[in-house]
Amino acid sequence: MREPGFNTKAIHGSTPKPDVHRAIRFPIYSGVAYDFESAENIEGAFTGRIPAHIYSRSSNPTVAAFESKMTSLENGHGTVALSSGMAAISNTLLNLLEKGDNILASNYLFGNTYSLFMHTLPNFGIETRFVDITRPDTIEQALDGRTRLIFFETISNPQMIVPDIVELVDIGKSNNLTVIVDSSVTSPYLFQASEYGADIVIHSTTKFISGGATSVGGAIIDLGNANWSNFPSLQKYHHLKQDAFLARLRKEVYRNFGSCMSPQAAHFQSLGLETLSLRVEKSCANAMTVAKFLEQKQDVTTVFYPGLDSSPFHEIAQKQFNGHFGGILSFELENKETSFKFINALKLIRCATNLNDNVSLIIHPASTIYADFTPEQTSEMGITDKLIRLSVGIEDVEDLLYDIDQALRCVA
Ligand code: PLP
Repeated sequence: MREPGFNTKAIHGSTPKPDVHRAIRFPIYSGVAYDFESAENIEGAFTGRIPAHIYSRSSNPTVAAFESKMTSLENGHGTVALSSGMAAISNTLLNLLEKGDNILASNYLFGNTYSLFMHTLPNFGIETRFVDITRPDTIEQALDGRTRLIFFETISNPQMIVPDIVELVDIGKSNNLTVIVDSSVTSPYLFQASEYGADIVIHSTTKFISGGATSVGGAIIDLGNANWSNFPSLQKYHHLKQDAFLARLRKEVYRNFGSCMSPQAAHFQSLGLETLSLRVEKSCANAMTVAKFLEQKQDVTTVFYPGLDSSPFHEIAQKQFNGHFGGILSFELENKETSFKFINALKLIRCATNLNDNVSLIIHPASTIYADFTPEQTSEMGITDKLIRLSVGIEDVEDLLYDIDQALRCVA
């Protein structure tokens, strides 16, 4: 039998059971509880002997249909869908870590992820050691016997840094670390984490996957590459071998923290997957045109986009992301005042904090997403006062260029 291609899988999925009415799209099961024929059967479901949905905070048919599509698109072992990308990150770490453990994380991260690592996890006795992922040779110096995992993003935003993922996975494997990749801005269409030997891939499905910011969501995919049989936090589940990570997640962390994706969101997310490749292609093509346009403008001092020849990450991005470079770019104007003036002059591009929407969105990261950090911290993260992030949507690119051009003339 022929292995279906990416788009066929994104559209048809592999729903666990067809709808009883043979509806083409899997229905929204918005209910909470499920009826059992007998006390023995519900006992069997609770003990795991009978596979069944029991209560929608733990699992739900519409959410399961989305999860199974994600597993298939990532060539993974299994997926858990959650209420947001941050829920996906926090649940993964809480599933894998114990008091006294530490992790290695890229120092180029989304602001809330950075905040989770720096401000929240220390209260649970978990330390984060931030490392420069562009200097893999320095990473091993940060390790000790309680280092459990390494976490990084495929393309960091707003810095547009692209790590060499082969090298990072190698370092992880040779030091017995679980390798976790946040692929929110690349999606499974641009980056296949399983081919790189990563252990877990995480998505904020709020981004490309949701179909253009239709709903907030997250996904954790166990790619089936890890050997969980010695992993300390999963001790109670070691007998489940390859299923240990997902079993503890579903039975403890995900269920007990109440991080479920709603069935309504799962329906939007499944629909979003159907058009994922078309939207990603258009957004990447638009981003490349906009980046080249900005590079020629005198008032734009620097453009950060891995698609440009001037980017130090051009070659590695070309190899890793299916010949594409993503839908986000950033650039610098003279200073904060000029940046604000430019943003305020835009008429089509909207000022908002999201990424990979169908609508082009612009933001000044230093005064918004990174406002809670000290100047020293933001400088370490490469966030300057003159930096602007642009998430390029799928509008007609000529209209985007026209809007940018007229706004630049306002600041000149
Ligand atoms: N990871 C990355 C790379 C992000 O950009 C974001 C949000 O912008 C998140 C995770 C968090 O996702 P969510 O907003 O769905 O919680």
